[in-house]
Amino acid sequence: MQIFEHWLQEAETCPSPHYNTRPDPEDISLLVIHNIALPPKTYGGGWIEKFFQGQLPPTEHPYFESLAGVRVSAHLLIERTGRLIQFVAFNQRAWHAGQSYFQGRENCNDFSIGIEMEGSDDQPYTQVQYQQLIKVTRSLMHVYPGITQERICSHASLAHGRKTDPGPAFDWQSYLAEL
Ligand SMILES: [Zn+2]
Repeated sequence: MQIFEHWLQEAETCPSPHYNTRPDPEDISLLVIHNIALPPKTYGGGWIEKFFQGQLPPTEHPYFESLAGVRVSAHLLIERTGRLIQFVAFNQRAWHAGQSYFQGRENCNDFSIGIEMEGSDDQPYTQVQYQQLIKVTRSLMHVYPGITQERICSHASLAHGRKTDPGPAFDWQSYLAEL
């Protein structure tokens, strides 16, 4: 896949206002894998795009009320169908990891790229999602060589006790073996 000026050419773009500048724009050296479903365990509703754009209607579902005013984003979403949507340029700081630690460093958003897999911790991801994730990861590792196999991790591993994604359903072994 092609990355041009920090945008993945194969992705649709859905710009989010939820980002800012990295403290060191040259330091892009971690890839964080997440999951998200809105409402939980419900797929394909288009709500994730609305959420990352700050336009999730709180009255549309009881769960959405709890997200009112929450301002987050990720660089990229991989839907169950394999559709790719990019929200934030890779050289900008998306707001996906929250309070987080990696090898003694905090604020992982500063130096990481966040990818959301549409899914849930305990439901298998789709094959086409893995295929897309592998292609995207290879391109990111090529363009941002600070991202190595050892620097690809789960959101859960950066935020112990607070986050669990992408959960036990995510097949790390076959993903990493394909890179
Ligand atoms: Zn997450």
